[in-house]
Amino acid sequence: MKNSKESIRLFENPILESLTKTNALFVIATLALISLSILLFGIIKIKLSILGYIVLFLSGTFVYTLAEYLIHRFVYHSGEYKNPKKWIFKIHGMHHTTPRDKQRLVLPLPVSIPLAGLFIFIFWLIMGNYVLLFFPGFLMGYSYYLSIHYFIHTTKPPKNFFRYLWKHHLLHHYKNETVAFGLTSPLWDIIFGTMPKDKKLE
Ligand SMILES: [Zn+2]
Ligand SMILES: [Zn+2]
Repeated sequence: MKNSKESIRLFENPILESLTKTNALFVIATLALISLSILLFGIIKIKLSILGYIVLFLSGTFVYTLAEYLIHRFVYHSGEYKNPKKWIFKIHGMHHTTPRDKQRLVLPLPVSIPLAGLFIFIFWLIMGNYVLLFFPGFLMGYSYYLSIHYFIHTTKPPKNFFRYLWKHHLLHHYKNETVAFGLTSPLWDIIFGTMPKDKKLE
């Protein structure tokens, strides 16, 4: 089953089951478009210097990388995530069982859009309307993550800088699931001490 391209049935209900399968590139493009629309709205609504816009956008991306690490480590890998009877299996455990199931490499939009709304609300409580410039950076970080993750599981490692990210995530899948939780960068793995010690994939 490991490394399988097959699909696992997650729900008895055929409608729910079909909602768990989605075209990754369509989701990525939609989220990137939402990010750009909010950014444009933010730029029209809030007057700042170019540097101010860039700093807020990049702060959102930076906070995203931390959220990516924390959610992967403490939510996705919590409890019995490999037990098909548990809800967390449907979110992440199944990805470890069938990592190459192309239709299940991204959270479907009916889940990710409400989640995006929740994040906007939380950030709005903290920073008010600046969320219109901060959140696009956060969401763009997530779209970037989804793209990299999709290509890691569907294509061979490239011969450039991205090769490192391929290896880091494949070590998480095929060597040790208790390390290498960061995907877009190993930064938080270095800070929190979860870098893989054994770096050989075979
Ligand atoms: Zn994982
Ligand atoms: Zn993966």
